[in-house]
Formats: sequence, structure tokens, C-alpha cells
Amino acid sequence: MEFRVAPTDSDLFTNAKRQLDRAFQHIDISDDAQRCLEHPKTVIQVSIPVRMDDGSLSIFQGYRVRYDDTRGPTKGGIRYHPSVNLPEITALAFWMTFKCAVVNLPYGGAKGGIAVDPKALSKLELERLSRGYIDAIADFIGPDVDIPTPDMYTNSMIMGWMVDQYNIIKRMKSPAAITGKPLSLGGSLGRDDATGRGGYYILKKRLEKLNKSAESPTIAVQGFGNAGFHIARLLYDDGFKIVAISDSKGGIYNPKGFEPYSIKQFKDETKRVEAVYCEGSVCNGIEHDRITNAELLELDVDVLIPAAMENQITAKNADCVQAHTILELANGPITYEADMILADKGIIVVPDILANAGGVTVSYFEWLQNRSGDYWERDKVHHRLQRIMSEAFEAIWRIASDRDVDLRIAAYIHALKRLTEAIDSKGTREFFTSK
Ligand code: GLU
Repeated sequence: MEFRVAPTDSDLFTNAKRQLDRAFQHIDISDDAQRCLEHPKTVIQVSIPVRMDDGSLSIFQGYRVRYDDTRGPTKGGIRYHPSVNLPEITALAFWMTFKCAVVNLPYGGAKGGIAVDPKALSKLELERLSRGYIDAIADFIGPDVDIPTPDMYTNSMIMGWMVDQYNIIKRMKSPAAITGKPLSLGGSLGRDDATGRGGYYILKKRLEKLNKSAESPTIAVQGFGNAGFHIARLLYDDGFKIVAISDSKGGIYNPKGFEPYSIKQFKDETKRVEAVYCEGSVCNGIEHDRITNAELLELDVDVLIPAAMENQITAKNADCVQAHTILELANGPITYEADMILADKGIIVVPDILANAGGVTVSYFEWLQNRSGDYWERDKVHHRLQRIMSEAFEAIWRIASDRDVDLRIAAYIHALKRLTEAIDSKGTREFFTSK
């Protein structure tokens, strides 16, 4: 795969905690709360035996980390990727904790994953693996405990298998145990494009704050999975110019702009974006340059949207970024060192724990609908999502300008207020030692 998971000084979790340490310097919170937030609550590693189509047995490593559940049951996706490892899943669970607090959902944070190349499995092998993962972790999840959902290379069909397996084990119907399900199994309207749509609402708010209004802002999107495609099409429909798009195999660039819908259609057929204009498609006549993922990040565009893997913008390439705004639709695409360089250059980074919170927000709506049995119209989902994202953006923007900090620190401060209030409400050192 071409997405470079750049080596950094330390693992992803250590890097994530450095962001938190930076936020601690700007907010007065109890030692107890600081210490609670530095460690994951539960770490589970499982070995999943799967009978392969050729009769052989493969053993896959799976993980589920529940980082903090002070504010409610933990919530977070399950990813299938060859590079899945424990520090990565722990960092992602950590970010889910702060993400849920940023948008004030009554949840803590979790994440899971399996080290596997899902594209190398048949559909039946994928189903057996997904059910096997639930067999292994069923005692640790549930609607009031921990609620999985899709993440990288998992989708609604996989969630359908997982909720079915959970129901078989528990001998009851429990749709709220897993979100991101197919509509027919209790999914929510509007969950499919929620991450991209939430990012779109946030980017619109960010651009409103710019004094100069670009005629038609130019956008480069790295990653063309669920989040990347949906934000590209929403921005395109709104008159933005999508000049570059990539996937794990490479990218395409045209300063005149692309129309994302047909790219998606051809990607689905050819399995790669970069093939779209190069292998006899109907778009053959459209001018384009082939670019690498690394080149995409350095293009002269207004807005850069990393929507793929972590660690894409590092100390090595941060100085070459030309966009005035980066919207982190992926989790952790910018390293700690790169953050400092981008801040020095005056580039505004809208952090992942705000920018991509649309997915978990609509997962929350799905969970509410499952629990009440009252299913919402799509308009209601969009309306409530927009309200939640806008309120979070405004609150974080205000913190950033009042305290003269970047948006990432402001987002952590915003989340920390909610998290520490919940942690401290169980008692603080001062409370227990005062007469
Ligand atoms: N996997 C998504 C994320 O990283 C969605 C989480 C959820 O819906 O629980 O935010």
C-alpha cells in the first residue's frame, strides 16, 4: 500500500499523549484526573482462529481497548488493516474518549481492530473472521458497556454479521450493541455519510471565519474511502473545486477540478482511483496528472483534507504544506512535531477529535433510535448533526481565540472540562481530606 505510515520517534499512543500533555499546560485540572486520563481502562488482545476456504486454519490477532468510561459506555470503531497494533488501537481509543467529550455524547472512548489484509480474504472468510472476533469479545461489549461501529476497511455488512453473532451468543435481539448496521437491521438513515458530512459542516464554519472569501476554494482529499468520498461530493455539490483525490494506490490532480461521483463509480469498478483516467474509462478525455500521496499533501490548494491513515504529515514534509487549512478527517494524520511546524507557518489545523466527530455522533443517534424503537427521518439526522457540530466548532473557536492556542489544544481543553468534571464528581483529594 502506498500510504506511508511514517516512522516517528515514538509509537502513536505516546505521540497522542504528548498532545494531551500540551493541553494540560493550559488548563488547571486535578492530578487525579490527569493520572486517570493517562492510562487505558481495559486492554484486550484475542487470537481468532478462522477456517480458510482451502481448509487450512489461520489465527488472526484482534484487539479491543476501552480507554475511559467515566462519561458513559465506551464507543468506537473496529478496523481491519495489516498494520493494526496495540499502541495504535490504544491511541485511537484515547482519541475516541476526547472526541465523544468534544461533541458531548454520553460515551467514553474505545477502539478495536484486527491485524489482517481484508482484501486478501474471500467474503466467507471475512464473515467467519468477523463472527470470530465477536465470539472472542462478546463478554466485554454491549449497549451499556462498549458499542463497536465501522472504521477503516469495515462497513455496514460487517456490522450486520457482528450484531447477528452478538444476538446469537446472548440469545436476544440487541441492536444497540453495535452501530453502523444496515438499515434493515436497525441502522440509521444518514450514518453512511456521517463522517464526511460532519467534516463538511465543520469546514464551512471554518471558512466563514476567514476574512477573505475565496471564489471557489480548491481542495485536495487524501483517501477516497467512505469519509473521503462523501466530503468530496458534498463540497463539490456546494461549488468547491476538488482538484486532487487519491487512494492507497496513488492520486490524480487537475487544477480545473474533478467530479467525485464518476470517480467513485470507476473506483468501485477498477478498485483504484489512479486507474480512473488512465485505463479506458469514459473520462479518458479529461486532463489530469498522476500524483503520489506524498505529492498531494504538498499541492498549492486552499484546503487539504487527509482522510486516510495516521502519520501522513510529519516533520519531514510539514514545511512543504501550502494549504491555509487542514481538516483532519482521518484520525491522527499529523504528528506532534509536524503540528508545531504547521502552527509556525500559520496553517490552521482543524483537529480530528472535532473534524471527524460526525460519524460517532450519528452512531449515537442510531443507538438512541435502537433503544427507543422510534426511527428518524434523514432530515432530522442531518439537522441534529449540523447543530452538534456547529456548537462544538463555535465553542472550540472561542477557546482558541480567548486563550491564544491552536484549535487542537482548544478542542482538548473543551473535552477536558467535561471529562474532569465527571472524574472529579466521584470525589477529589481535596474533598476526601477536608474536614
Ligand atoms: N470509527 C469512527 C471514528 O473513528 C466512528 C466511531 C463510532 O461511530 O463509534 O470516529
